[in-house]
Amino acid sequence: LPCTVRELSEAAGVAATDILRLLMEEGVMTTIAAVMDPDLTELVAAELGLEVEFRDELTVEDEYLAEIRDREDAEEDLQPRAPIITFLGHVDHGKTSLIDKIIDTDVVSGESGGITQHIRAYTIFKNDQQISFVDTPGHEAFTEMRARGANVTDIAVLVVAADDGIMPQTEEAISHARAAEVPIIVALNKCDLPGVDANQAMQGLTAQELVPSEWGGDVEVVKTSAITGEGIDELLDTILTVAELHEFTANPDRPALGTCIEAQQESDRGVVSKVMVQNGTLRVGDVIVSGQAYGKVKAMYDTLIPTARLEEAGPSVPVNITGFDVAPGAGEAFYVLDDIAKARTIAEDRAHEARNSNLDVDVQHVTLENLFDRLDGAEEVQTLNIILRADVRGSIEAIQKELGKLDHPEVKIKLLQKSVGGITEADVTLADASDAIIIGFNVVPDEKARIMADKRGVQVRRYEVIYKITEDLKAAIEGLLKPEE
Ligand code: GDP
Repeated sequence: LPCTVRELSEAAGVAATDILRLLMEEGVMTTIAAVMDPDLTELVAAELGLEVEFRDELTVEDEYLAEIRDREDAEEDLQPRAPIITFLGHVDHGKTSLIDKIIDTDVVSGESGGITQHIRAYTIFKNDQQISFVDTPGHEAFTEMRARGANVTDIAVLVVAADDGIMPQTEEAISHARAAEVPIIVALNKCDLPGVDANQAMQGLTAQELVPSEWGGDVEVVKTSAITGEGIDELLDTILTVAELHEFTANPDRPALGTCIEAQQESDRGVVSKVMVQNGTLRVGDVIVSGQAYGKVKAMYDTLIPTARLEEAGPSVPVNITGFDVAPGAGEAFYVLDDIAKARTIAEDRAHEARNSNLDVDVQHVTLENLFDRLDGAEEVQTLNIILRADVRGSIEAIQKELGKLDHPEVKIKLLQKSVGGITEADVTLADASDAIIIGFNVVPDEKARIMADKRGVQVRRYEVIYKITEDLKAAIEGLLKPEE
């Protein structure tokens, strides 16, 4: 970790002024609180006759947290937990209205322009059985959380308006849910509208390889109306049935861990964070750390009834908590520790690291150039995830056909998403979360997407000839790819 002049002075037992003088001799004017670049630190240390070793302190902390996270629960401690559901779908197909109907509130009309801005989280009871919801403003936000390592969703409910059918964003939502490897339930919404043809929408679903169970497939499709309430009960029952099949469990008798969904500074209560407990039980008084934030849980509130105070929250329960010193980032994991000093050290080290690093890329994503090295020595068959954007449908089909011919014992090519249009930020988020490369065929990324791809280390490759794609992929797999000029 890079350090400041003061830190080096303390660690080395050398007066800070001596270090500043040495730096001045090197032509560097700086202050005692300034962070030195590592090369400079080495140089100064050498002058002082010291040896420096750059240790990645963070990994020590992260290992400590990873140890907590990965601590296995004994089989007998595991208990069923509520499924966590996310609604995805094309804008205006009724995501928000359906959730409102389910939780019996009226959020749509309460929000500016009816657009869901925040990530909301609720838990409800259906015949004594609990179901939790995390409501993201769209599949981008859903995948953004995954990109940060947060997997808070167990089941995706794909909302498709029966009058509109499958729209571009529906296709995207399907890709995003598939990439998250969660089961998909379809809510065929707006079935109250006169003249809607459910069969046509079901055909559209089938074309996306979501074959309705009533047509012999394995996807549950429930006909709903957020206006009349038709099908809502059945939708909840279906959610519970699918959840039962997957046997989601957790251990309520351990210190809590989970994900911070969002956080904000409020004038009267300080930092209020919405967190989803994913394992263990969170209690008032617990020491918590999340990203660069730490503190003690001061108070907990129900996410639906802001005035209802809670003393504890078990697995799959979302709560609003106060007590963090600063707002943790959305999608940041939180942990309960037994020691506030430890929590403070972790939070401070992370803040320190964030200040010092001007590089946002901390994961090395797959590229066609590094693919071969990844394959080298890997025991199992590796998957190369690809997101494909093309100018027209016909190109997608042709490319897909060509990719199908690529058959390699060590690599499986998986098309996470294929769609018509330019490369967007949502594509980059998906690539980041799923370790994929993006291929643009006769299309370009928009400016925002390009900047984001650079920042996240996601490779975007552009092509104008189909055979060139397969040629490059083949070369990449064999380690023969020449760097792109
Ligand atoms: P979202 O963008 O997917 O969250 O969609 P909204 O919930 O905001 O709904 C978009 C519009 O469709 C609103 O005007 C709703 O009143 C309307 N709507 C939603 N569900 C239904 C439904 O089941 N039937 C009918 N007729 N209209 C609906």
